[in-house]
Amino acid sequence: MFGKGFQRKYALSDQGVKNARTGTFWTVIVNLVVMGGMGILYVMMRGFLATLTDGAPLPRALPIVILVLAFLLLSFITHLQQYKATYGLVYGEVKKTRISLAEHLRRLPLGYFGKRDLADLTETIMGDVNRLEHVWSHCLGYLYGSYISTAIIAVMLFAYNWKLALACLWGVPVAFVLLFGSRKMAKRHSEITKAAGVRVSDGIQETLENIREIRATNQEARFLNELNEKIDYHEHTMLRGELSTGIFVNAASVIMRLGVATTILIGTKLILSGQIDFLVLFMFLLVITRVYAPFDQALALIAEMFVSQVSASRLMEIYDAKTAEGSERFEPAGHDIVFENVGFAYDEKQVLRGVSFTAKEGEVTALVGPSGSGKSTCARLAARLWDIDKGSIQVGGVDIASVDPETLLTDYSMVFQDVVLFDDTVMENIRLGKRGATDEEVLAAAKAANCDEFVEKLPQGYATPIGENGAKLSGGERQRISIARALLKDAPIVLLDEATASLDVENETKVQGALSRLLSGKTVLVIAHRMRTVEAADKIVVLSDGKVAEAGSPAELLSNEDSMFRRMTRLQTDSAGWSL
Ligand code: ADP
Repeated sequence: MFGKGFQRKYALSDQGVKNARTGTFWTVIVNLVVMGGMGILYVMMRGFLATLTDGAPLPRALPIVILVLAFLLLSFITHLQQYKATYGLVYGEVKKTRISLAEHLRRLPLGYFGKRDLADLTETIMGDVNRLEHVWSHCLGYLYGSYISTAIIAVMLFAYNWKLALACLWGVPVAFVLLFGSRKMAKRHSEITKAAGVRVSDGIQETLENIREIRATNQEARFLNELNEKIDYHEHTMLRGELSTGIFVNAASVIMRLGVATTILIGTKLILSGQIDFLVLFMFLLVITRVYAPFDQALALIAEMFVSQVSASRLMEIYDAKTAEGSERFEPAGHDIVFENVGFAYDEKQVLRGVSFTAKEGEVTALVGPSGSGKSTCARLAARLWDIDKGSIQVGGVDIASVDPETLLTDYSMVFQDVVLFDDTVMENIRLGKRGATDEEVLAAAKAANCDEFVEKLPQGYATPIGENGAKLSGGERQRISIARALLKDAPIVLLDEATASLDVENETKVQGALSRLLSGKTVLVIAHRMRTVEAADKIVVLSDGKVAEAGSPAELLSNEDSMFRRMTRLQTDSAGWSL
């Protein structure tokens, strides 16, 4: 019952399975103790009835009082244990699940995050885990415990009087057939509702991110209308989902309760034919209300359990994603980067088909080619942000696929277009380059990256908070912060997406100055957009159609009449297709 399938179905950890088992155990005990209480009641009533009808002596009070007190005590203890086993244990479990999810996410290749919708991922870590928490604490133990204790009680009732037992309990399997029949529908509704929820958060995020453009182009009304529609649709799907499962749950509950009517009917017949006396019927009626009670609760929960399985499968999907593993020892002989016949596809889309080139240590290797030819992809692969499908990439003779990504990245600095800045001070944003760097080191790196000049103009200098993702900084300023970070890190390999196109001339010169300091002596792989960089590069690799079209020093390539590079250089000024 609590095997691997169960564990996956509810996305439980090993400890979670144990908790569910403990919760179930105590629920069974609690339900049986409650039945035991009924037993005591039955014995007492038999005694009193014998006094009333046959003139037997009144039952002695002391044993009854002791029995009742013992029952109350037992009941208290078992309820307490059940509470601890169901609610208490689960709180730790939720924390552990979030941490283990985060741990797993940390080990996933960074490329995974490019593929996944981030709003969806957040929804899983927060929303889905929350929903599961409720299921783990309120449902699993109660539900599975009720299954078992009802089975035990049913066996006892059948052994005592099968006709009456049948009259009591026929509704239970019928109710369950009805519910399990509705399961598919509940799941489908839940998937639809969740997808609608993700669309709402996406819509809100999109609107907030683009608020400036939206205002500037007078599109507020259109965006708000779209957002409203998404919210209305989400509400509509939620209502429909609740209604459809609600109908089934209530129908199941009503059917189960019909058992009371049939028990009275059959019971009366049995009394009339002298097979049982009134007290037995009375006890059966009491017992079934007790059987229904946990089931009523369970029925309400079952809809939630069905829905939660969608959450669980989303969680398992993350757990199932393959993590990028590797050795934590990385001792390359130098830092030449060698691509050997590298093939790579994003999902279905083949981007690289047998790319080979070498980026030497101490040299600047420029990747050029039309946009979409795979320049950024090469840079990402060189840092093992994704794993390649064919060929190999080596750094200093070591295949990077054998190295733990985190270990590998300590040797890389990346200055990419999309600099990520945190809502912290300028100082701390630069310090990210090297954990534990002293203020002096940070300031030296900042100075070398030409940050001084703009930071001094900020109200609190380096202690100025820069807003979410550096909202208060210009493109060139952000890039200089990112260069300062890289300077501070001083890693032997630098991957550079040279997106200086948006900078003004003055800014650009400053960024260039900062860059030349960063790049000297390193293995530099640059996604080149500007002629100046390309000409200053030691080596040029021209990518086209997922392959290396040609490679060599700028002079070599230019001297060749048929060279693609030469043609590109000529075209460069008036071409839109070539991003040089
Ligand atoms: P370049 O840097 O030369 O402009 P890229 O390496 O960015 O080219 O992209 C190469 C191709 O791969 C493009 O067709 C692009 O659409 C596709 N691509 C890039 N990133 C992804 C991604 N995360 N998922 C799917 N396809 C991608």
